[in-house]
Amino acid sequence: MKQYKITLLKGDGIGPEIVDEAVKVLNKTAEKRGFSVAYEEAELGGIAIDHTGVPLPEETIAKCKASDSVLLGAVGGPKWENQPGSNRPEAGLLGIRGALGLFANLRPAVIFEPLREASPLKPEIIGEAMDIMVVRELTGGIYFGERGRTKKNEASAAYDTELYTVPEVERIARVAFDLAMKRNKKLCNVDKANVLESSRLWRETVLKVAEEYPEVELNHLYVDNCAMQLVRNPKQFDVIVTSNIFGDILSDEASMISGSIGMLSSASLGEGKLGLYEPIHGSAPDIAGMGIANPLATILSVAMMLRYSLGEPAAADDIERAVGQVLKTARTPDIYTEGTRKVNCKEMGDLVCSAL
Ligand code: NAD
Repeated sequence: MKQYKITLLKGDGIGPEIVDEAVKVLNKTAEKRGFSVAYEEAELGGIAIDHTGVPLPEETIAKCKASDSVLLGAVGGPKWENQPGSNRPEAGLLGIRGALGLFANLRPAVIFEPLREASPLKPEIIGEAMDIMVVRELTGGIYFGERGRTKKNEASAAYDTELYTVPEVERIARVAFDLAMKRNKKLCNVDKANVLESSRLWRETVLKVAEEYPEVELNHLYVDNCAMQLVRNPKQFDVIVTSNIFGDILSDEASMISGSIGMLSSASLGEGKLGLYEPIHGSAPDIAGMGIANPLATILSVAMMLRYSLGEPAAADDIERAVGQVLKTARTPDIYTEGTRKVNCKEMGDLVCSAL
């Protein structure tokens, strides 16, 4: 029987509650699909600061590197707000992505049919369903480029630099093309090639990589147009690939279309199979320990892990189908609507397991 090794980084706040439910679902899926999972826990964020003084202990990096994949809850909270910037829980998050060489961030924006009313967009714009995957470059561009303070015409000034190398663009483009091949073979490249030289290099490189994927239909949009098209006609998109800063903004916009933060999963991938999977929401200190957190974003992150790191797409489909089914009748308080049953975090995990 195939066995996968998963490192759990439960983190802070609601992190442990939601990861526990996701583990329950993963175990149930494994049983059904005939594989097994061995878990190793490691500390990240505030809990790691409490126990070791730093948000990302070396031992955590070693455990993550030795596993097939990593599942993260969330980090942070008021208790650690007075830590210096480099020692805050969130620094552990950036640190672990860097240490594992994760350069591609995958953010699906999916609307489950029963949650259509939660979207701020009109039903006729959303149509039957929406399923967009935003692929954001994570370790290059303006967030990491040269920056500084200077003077211009005697006035105080500041600058940041957008810089991409061809290999950096090639590798993120390949991630996006590979994903498009697994989905509907449609890829939209987003840049600002009408103005920025870095975007012109980006687009040239994407076009070169496209030659390796003749089956994928590629189109290009300027980022301003893409921001508009996402709310005008989101159905036109399947996979979107873009730079770090554009991806930061567009992935938030795309995810808002789906309406609820407790539903949104994400993946960070590198060169190999190992990936880091996590909900996009934070540690929700306001509801931590109350048992009412929505575990579905973490459960859907497990589905992504099965699909993109473990090569178990049928198990991923099972989980997504089960979540869609459960949402018809049961909701955690954050997505509750009248006519459905209000359930807590643990009950939601149990219901997804039963629907599997
Ligand atoms: P948050 O996402 O934790 O919470 C925002 C709001 O959404 C809160 O009202 C919260 O109760 C609600 N919410 C979030 N997830 C939910 C869930 N699964 N179920 C039900 N409700 C949910 O954002 P915040 O309040 O700005 O940040 C809290 C802490 O989390 C901060 O320390 C922040 O730095 C950290 N943070 C961590 C991550 C991460 O670990 N990836 C991401 C964002 C924020």
